[in-house]
Order: sequence, then C-alpha cells, then structure tokens
Amino acid sequence: MWETDGTGRFQHVSTRMADVLACPVQRLQHASFPALLAGRAEAPPEADQSADRVDRLRRGVAFHQHLIAVDTPAGRRWLRLSGKPFLDQKGRFAGFRGVGSDVTEARRAEAHIAYLATRDPMTDLSNRVMFHDVASEACAAAAQNAPQNAQPAPDTTVSLLYLDLDGFKTVNDSIGHAAGDALLGQVADRLRALLPADAQAFRLGGDEFAILQRGRDGAAAQALAEATIATLREPYLIDGVRAEIGVSVGIACAPADATEPEDLLRKADLALYSAKQGGKGRWRGFDRDLDVRVQRRHELDEAMRQALADGEMALHYQPLVSLQDGQVVGCEALLRWTRPGLGPVSPAELIPIAEGTGFILAIGRWALRRACAEALTWPVRLRVAVNISSVHFRRPDFFADVAAVLGETGLAADRLEIEITESIFLANTPHVLDNLRSLRALGVRIALDDFGTGYSSLSYLTQFPVDKIKIDRAFVRDLSSRPECLTVIEAIMVIARDLRIDVTVEGVETEQQAELLRLRRCNSAQGFLYSPARPPEEIPGLIESLPRRALPTERAVRAVA
Ligand code: C2E
Ligand code: CA
Ligand code: CA
Repeated sequence: MWETDGTGRFQHVSTRMADVLACPVQRLQHASFPALLAGRAEAPPEADQSADRVDRLRRGVAFHQHLIAVDTPAGRRWLRLSGKPFLDQKGRFAGFRGVGSDVTEARRAEAHIAYLATRDPMTDLSNRVMFHDVASEACAAAAQNAPQNAQPAPDTTVSLLYLDLDGFKTVNDSIGHAAGDALLGQVADRLRALLPADAQAFRLGGDEFAILQRGRDGAAAQALAEATIATLREPYLIDGVRAEIGVSVGIACAPADATEPEDLLRKADLALYSAKQGGKGRWRGFDRDLDVRVQRRHELDEAMRQALADGEMALHYQPLVSLQDGQVVGCEALLRWTRPGLGPVSPAELIPIAEGTGFILAIGRWALRRACAEALTWPVRLRVAVNISSVHFRRPDFFADVAAVLGETGLAADRLEIEITESIFLANTPHVLDNLRSLRALGVRIALDDFGTGYSSLSYLTQFPVDKIKIDRAFVRDLSSRPECLTVIEAIMVIARDLRIDVTVEGVETEQQAELLRLRRCNSAQGFLYSPARPPEEIPGLIESLPRRALPTERAVRAVA
C-alpha cells in the first residue's frame, strides 16, 4: 500500500515497500514519487507509461495497473501500481493512495518462458519457432535486395540447409531412447563447433535440423553441406557404446529459389528428398525439375483416382507363348491409362505414385477383378497374369482380396497367376509368407517378375515357394552382345529345373533370341516378336492367329545353329 501527499511525497511508508525497493524506510519517507520514477534506468518500452503516470500524478488523475521498472540497489524491480487521488475535508486534492505489487519474479519467469519458447531443450539449439522468425527476416531482406533479373549480390542471400539424419531410428531402436536423445545432443554439439559465425543451426523436430547461412553464395552452402556430412558421419560414443549415423542435406537459397520462408523450406525439403533417393549421406541443391516432378505427381495422384472411378483405365493383354510349340499359354494384364486430351500415362510412372499414396490397393483390386472377368472369355487352358505391387501383397488381407474376386467371377484359381517382384521379400513381413502359402494352397500360381534386375538372390527361391520366374528383358536385350547374359540364363535354368519352377523370358523381340532361349529349354516367352499388349477385344483373335506366327522360321534356326 502506498500513499503520497498533495506534492507527491510518500507518506506512511511500509516496511514491505521498503523491502521491495531495497531502501530504508527513513529515506523513502517524504521522498518524492516522481523522483523515484525519474531514478529509473532506461526502461523497456512497455514501462514507458511512466511519463503518463507522472502527468496523472500531477493532475490528480487515477491510474490502474501500470507497470514500472525501478532500479534499486538490489537490482531492477518490476512493480505494478494502481492509484487514486483523495481529497481533504474541504474537498481539495490531498494526495494519492494506491496499491502496488512486486511482479519482478513473474516477469523473469515470462522472459524465461519466452526464451524457452525459442529453444529446443534437448539440444539447446534454436527451435522451429525461432527458425521461422529468423528465416522470415532473412528471406525478407534477401527479397528486398534482390535486383530484378540479375544475379543477387551474395551478401544479401540466405541458404537453407535442411538436414535429416540417416539411420537415427535404428540407433534409437537398438540402444534406447535415452541414448537416442544423447546422440541428438552430440549432433548439436558438433554442429555448433562446425558452424562459421554467419551460420545458425536449428532443431526442427525429431532427427531434422536446419542451418541458415547468410551473406554467402551457393558454393559456400555446398561446402558447408559437405563439411556437415563429414562431421556427423564420424562415430559417436554414447555411454561407452559406439554408434554411427549419417546425414542427408537438401539446400535451397533465397532469393534464387524462394522468397518466402515456407517456400524455402519446402524446396529444401524437395532437395532433401532427392538427396535421400540418390543414396544416403549426400547433399542436393534444389532445382526447378524437382518442383515440376512433385507437381506432376500431385496432379497424377488426383487424376488417377478420378480416372479409375470414371472407367478411364483399362487392361491390355500381352500373350505368353510356349517356346516349344508356339501356342499361347496365357496373357499378362498390363495397365493402360489414356487421359482424354492428354495422351497415355505409362504404368511405370503411375504405379510408383500410387504405391506412395496407397491408391495402389484400389488399382490392384480393380485389376484382379477385371482380369479374372475378362479371362473367362478365353479358352480354358489359358491363364491370366496380374501384376501386384509389393505394397499390396504385404498386406494381411491380400489373400482375402484374391479369394473374393475368384468367388465373384467364378474363374478357376489355377487360371490366375500373380506376378510379384523380389522387393516383396526385403521387408521381413510375416504376411508375405502367409499370403504366398494360402494362395498356392488355393491353386493360384505365383510368378517372380523382373528376375535378375533386383537382388536376384536365388536363395529366395528355396525360402519362398513360387511357380515361375520371369527373366527380365535386360538379359534378353543384351543376349548377343554380352555372353554372360546367356550364362546367367543357363544358370537360372539349372536351378529352376531343380526346383521345378517354370521360366518365362520377357522382352523377346527377334527370332534369334527366341531360338536361343528355346534351345536353353526356357518354357515360355513374351515380347514384341509375338505381340505387344492388346485390348481385350483383340485377344481371342490373337490367340487364334499367333501359333502360326510364333514358331521359329527355318532362317532363325539356321542362324542360331
Ligand atoms: P512388367 O511387369 O515387367 O511388364 C512388362 C513391360 O514390358 C510392359 O511395359 C510391356 O509393355 C513391356 N514389354 C513387353 N514386351 C516387350 C518387348 O519385347 N520389348 C520391350 N522393350 N518391352 C516390352 P508396361 O506395360 O509399360 O509396364 C511397365 C511396368 O509397369 C510393368 O513391368 C509392371 O511392373 C508395371 N505394371 C503394369 N501394369 C501393372 C498393373 O496392373 N499393376 C501393377 N502393380 N503394376 C503394373
Ligand atoms: Ca509383369
Ligand atoms: Ca517384368
């Protein structure tokens, strides 16, 4: 509680007030309030209500909850004051009475909270909030100084290095989360030690970090990225346990790539994604092609959903021909999508996008149903092969999807062949083996597609039951120029015969190739020599006419001999 007389001098000073102001009661008694205010050192702007307050005191006007900073012998104190004028018996202004509270602790806590709000407690680096502030400010400065259509001067540019640790999850899972936290701390220490004065590091969350470097050119950012990769790759010691991780870096620069912080981050993220795709432990700068690719993915993602619903997608069928008697033994269903007015989209482009979004499940179920229904119109000895993505095959309900389609269409299970690739065996998913076994028990055949391109481990063939392997067309293409291709095919044939697995060779384009493969006793072939994939209405006619064309000519037999 405080009180002044009509001239602004303190009356009845309490010991509490003396304590707060760290000044003996005697000195405060009769000291002037305006003088106390004048004793303030430079106060932060929000405390500059003091002039107003002095004025109110002078004029005898009430004030409410004013914050003032007072420099006392014990340091700066923050007070929140309210006061009202009071009158004497004759109705004349006699002074002020009011209350005040010491809010110094609360202000300190506030300031600390404000500080904490900008820090990442685990690494003591600036956090995402702070990143946004610094990046916004740097981008604004870069944008302002960027000359139109000219190379920006390096001293106004800012480079963003977007870092994502490689292999952090493995360490975290194997040596524990506390160790993972310690590792992040060590990463931050190394970054702090590495960074030049013009660069600042941030932890954006999880195992993602950012570095903003100002006033340097793109080459400096690349050099910094290389140094970062080299530094973070060195082994770590955490509680006596050695751990190794790496880092991938995406770089984007303002104003060259972006002038808004969100856009800068997005472009650095695209570059990071591309760096990760190219193998880990690398850096990549943003370039416009990345952006175009992402937009295209986005556009196709939306369009393909509509297209499947609108019946724009179709299956075409490519015959598989027996190398012994030239008969068509089945057809492979291949996805075709022609966008009205825009032309065809290759399945090689659209399937990976659909795998990324999960829409591949819808495509897979649709293709199964459509292929089984269309195969019903073919001679019964012909099989239909359907390509199924690993993403789909790894799901526990894949078998149920197939069983449902066979039930609905009434196609005999042994007329359906599912083509999968080796990538299916990479992630150790238990459902893969369950699906394989259940499908085979039902009579559905399994073909291992693109054999020879991926991991090509023949050991898969003993671990996982398949009925057929399809040798990739890369081997056939180089059959005459690279003798080892034939050696590989021969080796595959030995194992396949041993395991009683059929072999189809893909991409057969010439009669010589067909004859070489027939002599190696490959079972069937597929390729432009016989026919590309054709629409379903042409298939019955093709089955009729092909055997005459498919048998090797005299000339081919002589050439190979
Ligand atoms: P794939 O399963 O290896 O299919 C064979 C690809 O080789 C087809 O390309 C086919 O048109 C092409 N081809 C056939 N014979 C020859 C030949 O003699 N020479 C050459 N150079 N190429 C030949 P397409 O139709 O573009 O399909 C590409 C890939 O897309 C397929 O490779 C398959 O992995 C995937 N795909 C196609 N349809 C589907 C589908 O319905 N579902 C899934 N999950 N993937 C599909
Ligand atoms: Ca295939
Ligand atoms: Ca293939």
